[in-house]
Amino acid sequence: MKNKEKEVIAIEIPSKVIRVQHVTCPMGHSLMDPKHKIHGYASVTLLAKYKQEEGLIHLDPVYGSFKNVSEINVPEGECVELFCPTCHVTLTLDNITCEECGSNMFGAYLPHGGRVEACLRNGCQSHHLKLAEGRELLDKLEQYHTLDAYL
Ligand SMILES: [Zn+2]
Ligand SMILES: [Zn+2]
Repeated sequence: MKNKEKEVIAIEIPSKVIRVQHVTCPMGHSLMDPKHKIHGYASVTLLAKYKQEEGLIHLDPVYGSFKNVSEINVPEGECVELFCPTCHVTLTLDNITCEECGSNMFGAYLPHGGRVEACLRNGCQSHHLKLAEGRELLDKLEQYHTLDAYL
């Protein structure tokens, strides 16, 4: 039997040129909040917990930008826990820790199997974009010459 070749594709995406248009929790609930806009776009809204406090946090949908708005007061350098505001499932990723500070990362899911990952520590701006299907992405890029169709 022939081994199926695996493709590893590394793409460098300059910050602030793409934005997250649609992400969901692992159960498929949309995390976008059109009522709370940042830069004029629907923010990514999550339920945040820090110690005894609980409230919504609105994340900047522009990838690589951090104009986040939090309803709870989290001191710089402290870590929060993030949950889906609809079903309260945790968004913390097991086995994935931040390369910068060693804290846990959380993930929000893109429609075609990719994932946006970011650090849970307030003030740490470490984040990644993981695309599950590199081939699919390349096809889309060839077709549309833009990442919009994918994201
Ligand atoms: Zn959910
Ligand atoms: Zn970090």
